[in-house]
Amino acid sequence: MGKRTYEDALGFQTKAVHTGNDVDRETGAIRRPIVMANSYELPYDPTDMNWSSAGEKPLYTRNGGANQNYLQEKLRSLEGGDDCVVLASGVAALSGLFFTLLTSGDHAVFSNITYIAVYRLLNELLPGKYGVGTTIVDTSDLEAVRAAIRPNTKLIHIETPGNPTTQISDIAAIAQLAHDRGILLSVDNTFASPYSQRPLELGADLVVESLTKYINGHGDAMGGAVIGPKALIDRIRADAMVNLGGAISPFNAWLIMRGAVTLPLRMREHNNNALAVARFLEDQKGVRFVAYPGLESHRGHETAKRQMINGFGGVLAFGLNADHETHNRFVAALRIITSAVSLGHDESLIVFLGEKDERQYLYPEEFHGGFFRLSVGIEDARDLIGDLSRALDAVGLK
Ligand SMILES: *Cc1c(COP(=O)(O)O)cnc(C)c1O
Repeated sequence: MGKRTYEDALGFQTKAVHTGNDVDRETGAIRRPIVMANSYELPYDPTDMNWSSAGEKPLYTRNGGANQNYLQEKLRSLEGGDDCVVLASGVAALSGLFFTLLTSGDHAVFSNITYIAVYRLLNELLPGKYGVGTTIVDTSDLEAVRAAIRPNTKLIHIETPGNPTTQISDIAAIAQLAHDRGILLSVDNTFASPYSQRPLELGADLVVESLTKYINGHGDAMGGAVIGPKALIDRIRADAMVNLGGAISPFNAWLIMRGAVTLPLRMREHNNNALAVARFLEDQKGVRFVAYPGLESHRGHETAKRQMINGFGGVLAFGLNADHETHNRFVAALRIITSAVSLGHDESLIVFLGEKDERQYLYPEEFHGGFFRLSVGIEDARDLIGDLSRALDAVGLK
């Protein structure tokens, strides 16, 4: 059994700790060092090298350096994929994937609920500047996905749970639909992380992660990754990293590698805390609705139970039985939960998404009155619930 086969058979926690790390042969250090060099020694005859791709041996940091390679090895292994490319941000990973796989005249189907940059890229940029046709569909509805497919459809892109409403789409069913027609399926797995969901094992071709979120987990570094078959990842690496220049810095790759070690431990807390907070909110008369895939009341709960392992992620959405201004006053009354964008950090973060969001027409009815996206952190659940309870009281909703 080769080293890689042996490592792939290990448990998720063991991989999170060990994969990608090794003794540094130069110093004997048992942690891989940060290699900040921009360039690496060339072989005796450099003219034989493939300059537009990254080999095993680093060449130049924009083609992939030591720390990038270590992190790629860890992520590949955690997602159960063949190969991985890490890039400067989650959006660099998404744009790299779309620009690499889609050409003028192609068509892509994408989810109604996605990170905002996906909407900009696939609804505006690629159609407007590059002649790529795209269709937005409710991907929680399999028939709607089927109906949106055209003869020139090359890619289906979904996000599950979706940002910001936590909509669930059925990965295995959409993968089947796609593959029957020779279409690729990419899944943004950022909300679940590979601890809670492994889209490649469910049939997806490519997984995207914003490493900025759970995988780094400490709110102090940006990164993105695409994981999938080597032939596709090689193309994305060449286009997105080498030629478009979306390389991650060695220091950020090192920070994310360090954060990823505790991913399973943190995710357990995120998952447990989010469920506890969702259940608390669901019982409050001042709360208009709560959307969390772990609640029986969630539209996608049955699908989520089938495809999410080890819990339902740390993000939920909810709205108050109150006007716009009261939503702002509620946030101002919170003492532990911070008002800020991003998610998947150790600390809890809340953002008020008001009624002015241009994508409201794509959201279910209950979201139209403005709502919060709450990323539940790894603080004590009791304190988070106390904070929310106090803020409800402060705005007269208790
Ligand atoms: C944050 C986020 C992204 C973008 O990641 P960045 O690292 O901020 O570029 C993509 N997808 C989802 C689901 C996200 O939450």
